Amino acid sequence: MNVYDSELVSTLLEKSGYTECKDLRDADAIFLNTCSIREKAEDTVNNRLTNFKHLKRKNPNLIIGVLGCMAQNLKNDLLESKPWVDVILGPDSYRRLPEILDERKNNLDHLVDTRLSRFEVYEDMFPNRRDGINAWISISRGCDKFCTFCIVPFTRGRERSRLIAGIISETKQAVADGFQEITLLGQNVNSFRTPEGDFPDLLKAVAAVKGVSRVRYTSPHPQDIDDRLLQVMKDHENICNHIHLPLQAGSDRILKRMNRTYSQKEFLNLAEKIRLYLPDCAISTDIIVGFPGETEEDFLQTLNVIRQVGFDSAFMFKYSSRPGTKAAEYTDQIPEDIKQSRLERLIELQKNVSLIANQKQIGNILQVIVEKESKKSTRQWAGRTEGNCWVVFDKGNEQINDIINIKITDARGITLFGERIYEEVQV
Ligand code: SAH
Ligand code: SF4
Repeated sequence: MNVYDSELVSTLLEKSGYTECKDLRDADAIFLNTCSIREKAEDTVNNRLTNFKHLKRKNPNLIIGVLGCMAQNLKNDLLESKPWVDVILGPDSYRRLPEILDERKNNLDHLVDTRLSRFEVYEDMFPNRRDGINAWISISRGCDKFCTFCIVPFTRGRERSRLIAGIISETKQAVADGFQEITLLGQNVNSFRTPEGDFPDLLKAVAAVKGVSRVRYTSPHPQDIDDRLLQVMKDHENICNHIHLPLQAGSDRILKRMNRTYSQKEFLNLAEKIRLYLPDCAISTDIIVGFPGETEEDFLQTLNVIRQVGFDSAFMFKYSSRPGTKAAEYTDQIPEDIKQSRLERLIELQKNVSLIANQKQIGNILQVIVEKESKKSTRQWAGRTEGNCWVVFDKGNEQINDIINIKITDARGITLFGERIYEEVQV
């Protein structure tokens, strides 16, 4: 989401006559697009801002700005602790940037705008995308789910959807610019709702755009996945056989305290239903360990669900208390050493579960888009499967962006290895 927002901001500034420079020391203005999801993300931004102080000392005219969720969330802290920050803009105020830069030349006051909007979706602004395979397209902003651990509903405001027509134009533009893969983005991508249609309607329309090789979406909320969505995925070859399905926790008690709105049983049934509609569908997830009040028994239930579903991959986090959220007020916070040891146990289990899922692919022929040179060898390419798994293989006469068939020969860690198959195969 932040990559997309940074692309938006960069487009806005380019349209107003500014150009991007590669070296910070050459810049007249530096904007940091920020994230508040966990304390660690905020620490990273604070460290970078501290480094910028020296740049400002060398160039007093340099404008330093903080954009996005931290601007929204911590404006007073930032103004107090980092007086060298000139501009603070929340996620709904990016349109003001060119005007603010112009104004700033005559006015040296701090500029703060963190008003949240019920309407802003940056409808008419197609971002300049960097080279690559995948084009992110934001289809909605904000979130109304209010999971008790999460800061997003506070920093990004109320949920609002773009119009289907605008998303389709942006998809056509991305295809014309050479992008093979489209990823539809939203905090709750599948609660997308407009007078023209809902998420399954949108997905169908994007998949029908000529030249779209692959469509993905992230992140759906389990509560909003229905039969229609699964049927649309089944009906369209170019919608990737992959669902990112955030579980967060396995115990009903913790799920309830998190306000996730589904039980363990409902989640397991959903995973089963997904595989009924889409037999080889890759399922990935997000897990939080050490949520307030999580007992060893609760944690074991999370491990159990992971074993039962057999997720292909997972993003795993220690709970990070976010001031202002409901869970931050719970008095039964879990000590750091317990969170750390649960995280390590979880990672160890998921490593094995991913390996088992990947080993099942050995012998299969998978469609891969050639994406970049492998990190380990200049003689090999790396590309992703429909299930979003990296595959490494020897270079032949293919180029980056080609869609090819790879026969999987090995699985190590979270990576697959294979060799190119030249004859036509049914995928
Ligand atoms: N809207 C998405 C999640 C966006 S945030 C969804 O509902 O799935 C991405 C992930 O960050 C979440 O799925 C969650 O696992 C994690 N996360 C969010 N708040 C967190 C917190 N306070 N501490 C630790 N992890 C958190
Ligand atoms: Fe946060 Fe996602 Fe829950 Fe919304 S649905 S509150 S973004 S975790």
